[in-house]
Amino acid sequence: MELSENELIKRLRRFGRGSAAIVRGIGDDGAVVDLQRGQHVLVQDALVEHVHFEFAFASPYDVGKKAVYVNVSDILSMGAEPLYFLVTIGVPEKLSYRDVRMLYKGMDRAAREFRLFLLGGDTVATKGDFFIDVSMVGRVLAGRYFGRNKAKRGDLIGVTGHLGESAYGLRLLQKGPAAQPANRYIKRYQSPKPPLDVWKELVKNDITDAMMDISDGLIIDLERMMTESKTGARLYLEDIPMPPVLKKQGLQALALSGGEDYQFLFTFPRAKASALENIRKKGLAISVIGEVVKQRGVRLFDKNGELALSAKGYEHFGTLQ
Ligand SMILES: [Mg+2]
Repeated sequence: MELSENELIKRLRRFGRGSAAIVRGIGDDGAVVDLQRGQHVLVQDALVEHVHFEFAFASPYDVGKKAVYVNVSDILSMGAEPLYFLVTIGVPEKLSYRDVRMLYKGMDRAAREFRLFLLGGDTVATKGDFFIDVSMVGRVLAGRYFGRNKAKRGDLIGVTGHLGESAYGLRLLQKGPAAQPANRYIKRYQSPKPPLDVWKELVKNDITDAMMDISDGLIIDLERMMTESKTGARLYLEDIPMPPVLKKQGLQALALSGGEDYQFLFTFPRAKASALENIRKKGLAISVIGEVVKQRGVRLFDKNGELALSAKGYEHFGTLQ
């Protein structure tokens, strides 16, 4: 990059907005904040060029936004509201100051959407690929965290939004020049904003037992949740929300194992089913897709019976094609 580290930090400092609780923000050896009493959630998630994304398919602005979104998604799925974050970026020579500024603009945009504040971090030169690593802290709401370990036998399984959109968007990008303007699937891949409105309703109505976000794919993430909860799950293919285009093209597997949806997967007691239905009636995207059972593992059914999920298959595209 064409700027010295001092000059870069000076210019990036303006992305550290202030708030009454921030005693000392960017510019010192560390940040000082007033945390309210109560439990806090800490998360950290990095994006690495060529591993998690390609600049050919996502601009620096998108990557900045996404780095914040994926951490917000983890904070929310623990039942907490995001408050502050720190970021370290590894900058290879090929990136310009303009790229870095756009990256911070993307982060700033996402931070404003969720009312959270950048407190600092580090910028380092790298001889390899670009990376961005975000740490975030949030405050647990309603006195209890949500977790993967809280699913109970007999619970129903719910999911927000539509699954497979992000994976389908990436597929479109890989096929050739991006659709102009980017369609909803490409947008979902580049800018996976967590569905805050649905999340708020779930919290307000005290619906959920267990919750997590879907980052690697419905089946594999649900399996993780069931393992943590020492339970199993039955899923019903017809109830899994996915864009009609996936069914038309025989790509249902993208909804099951595509990953990067950043929707919320949760379990809830049957007694809360009518409260959930009321949320759905408000026009928020939420679906009931299965139930928690005693028998370990995740099993998938359609109207004709059980469908095969090979041990490895669902970690890859194309299982059900
Ligand atoms: Mg997660």
